[in-house]
Amino acid sequence: MLLARVLLAAAPALAYGWALGGGINARSLQSARGVARSASLDMAEGGHFEYLVIGGGSGGMASARRAAAHGAKVAVIERERLGGTCVNVGCVPKKVMFMAGSMMQMLHQASGYGYQLGEFEFKWEDLKAKRDAYVKRLNGIYENNLGNSGVEYISGDAKFTGAKEVTVGDTTYTADTVLIAVGGTPSVPSVPGAEHAITSDGFFELEELPGKVAVIGSGYIAVELAGILKLLGSEVDLIIRGERPLKTMESSVTEMLVSEMKEEGVNFVQGEIASISEDGGKKTLSLKDETTMEGYDTVLFAIGRTPVTGSLDLGAAGVDVGKSGHIVVDDRSRTSADGVYAVGDVIGSGADLTPTAIAAGRLLSDRLFGGVPEEQTIMDYNMVPTVVFSHPPLAVMGLTEEQALDKYGADDVTIHKTTFVNMQYSREFLVEGMFQPKTFAKLVCVGPEQKVVGLHMIGLAVDEILQGFSVAIKMGATKADFDSVVAIHPTSSEELVTIAPWQAKYKLAPEPVTA
Ligand SMILES: Cc1cc2nc3c(=O)[nH]c(=O)nc-3n(C[C@H](O)[C@H](O)[C@H](O)COP(=O)(O)OP(=O)(O)OC[C@H]3O[C@@H](n4cnc5c(N)ncnc54)[C@H](O)[C@@H]3O)c2cc1C
Repeated sequence: MLLARVLLAAAPALAYGWALGGGINARSLQSARGVARSASLDMAEGGHFEYLVIGGGSGGMASARRAAAHGAKVAVIERERLGGTCVNVGCVPKKVMFMAGSMMQMLHQASGYGYQLGEFEFKWEDLKAKRDAYVKRLNGIYENNLGNSGVEYISGDAKFTGAKEVTVGDTTYTADTVLIAVGGTPSVPSVPGAEHAITSDGFFELEELPGKVAVIGSGYIAVELAGILKLLGSEVDLIIRGERPLKTMESSVTEMLVSEMKEEGVNFVQGEIASISEDGGKKTLSLKDETTMEGYDTVLFAIGRTPVTGSLDLGAAGVDVGKSGHIVVDDRSRTSADGVYAVGDVIGSGADLTPTAIAAGRLLSDRLFGGVPEEQTIMDYNMVPTVVFSHPPLAVMGLTEEQALDKYGADDVTIHKTTFVNMQYSREFLVEGMFQPKTFAKLVCVGPEQKVVGLHMIGLAVDEILQGFSVAIKMGATKADFDSVVAIHPTSSEELVTIAPWQAKYKLAPEPVTA
C-alpha cells in the first residue's frame, strides 16, 4: 500500500514534466487549428510535408513539435508506441523501478527512525500494473501533444523509396526535409541458446519477480537493473567481461559502486558468456573459461544497443551508415543525403540519452524552420551531465581525472575530493547488520584558476544534485566560484561548495592561514 500510494503521488508530477516539452507559440496554435484533422488523415492519399519525421521517440517528437511551433507542416511516422524507448522501455519505467528499489531500502532502514512496520510484502504484479498504466497514460499524452501542436501522426513502418520519399504500407509520403530518429534496440550476442535470455525490453514484460537472475553486461543498464532486482528480492549474479562495470567513467566512483552493490548482495562474476541452455524452465550459463552457472529463472542481456536502420532501406535515400550501423552525420545533424537529417541514438553520438536526442532535434528545427543562425544550433555533445540510476546512484559530468591528466598534464590538473556520510545513514539511525553507505564527490580542475572540467559523484541523492551544478560548470565555473556560494545546510550538496581548501575570491590575498 505504501509503495502504491507513493508511486501514485509521483506519477502526475512526472507526467506533467513530459507533457510540457515543446513550447507552442501563437503561430503554432493557429497551425494546430489548421491541421485539426490530424487523426483523420486519409492514409491512402499520402501527402506532402515540409518536415517528415521517422520515429516518434524522444528526438523525433521534440523536433517535430518544435518545427510545427515554427509553423511548418509536419508529420511523425511511428510504428510502435508513441514516446519511443524512453517512455515505453527505457528511462520512465526504469525510473519507476529504481524508485521501488529505493523505497525498499528505506523500508529496511525504517526501524532506525522509530517505525515498527512488522512484516511487509512487495507485490511485483501490483507495481507492474501501475507502471504499465502510467506508461499508457503517457502514450496518450504524447498523442494529444502531437495533435495540439498540429503535427500529423502516421502510424506504421516507414521505408525510404527515395531521399525525400517514404512509404508506410501502400501509401507514399513526400517531404522537403526528412528527419530520421529511429533509435536503437537491445543487442543480443550470437551465442548458442541466446533465445533463452531476455533484454531490457523483456525486463519490462516480466509478470513476476524472478527468483534467481543473471544480468550480463557492464553498462549503465546492467548495473541499474541488477541493483533493482536485488533490492526487490531476486538473487542476482552480475556477469561482467572486464574488471569493472562502466569502464569509461571515473574509476574512483565505479569502484565504490561495485563495493556498495556487493554490500547489497549483488554477486559480481568476471567472465564472458559462451552459451545458455534451458531445462525445465531453469537456465544454465557456460562461460568461456568453462565455468558453468545454473539454476537461473531469468538471464538478461544488457550488452549495448544496436541502431534500428535495417528496415528503412537507407540505400534508397542515399544515406550512409558507419561500421557500427549508426547513421553518419556531421555536426549539423546532416546525413550524406541532401535534406535528410538524423538525431538521437541512431547516430551513436556517445551520449545516447533522451535529453541529447531532444536537444539535437529542437536545435535542428530552430535552424530549419525558426531562422536561428546555423552556428547557434550546433549540438554540443561535450560536458553532457548524466546519471546512472544504480543503487547508489552515480552522477557524472565532464572529464575523469585520468582524461584530464592525459589532456592537460599533471602540472595543470588539481583534484578536490570529499567522502562523507549522508545524515540519513548516521550511525544512530542504522539498523542491525546494515552497512553504512558513503557519498563521494570529485572535482577535476585545470589551470591556475582551477576551472572545473569534471564532477563525479556517487551516493544517496546525487542524481538530484548534478543538474544545478552542471549549469555552473557549463558556464565555466572555477573552484573559487564553487566556494563563493554560501552552503545550504544540512544537505549533501553543501559538501561540494565546502571542499577544503576554501578559495575565497579576494582581490588581495591575505597571509596564508592553516584553517
Ligand atoms: C533500459 C533503458 C533505460 C534508459 N534510461 C535512460 C535514462 O535514465 N535517461 C536517459 O536520458 N536515457 C535513458 N535511456 C536512453 C533513451 O531511452 C534513449 O537515448 C532515447 O530514447 C533515444 O531517443 P531516440 O529519439 O533517438 O530514439 P527512440 O526513443 O528509441 O525512438 C525511436 C522511435 O522510432 C520508431 N521507429 C523505428 N524504426 C521505425 C520505422 N522504420 N518506422 C517508424 N517508426 C520507427 C521506434 O518504434 C521508436 O518509437 C534508456 C534506455 C534504455 C533501453
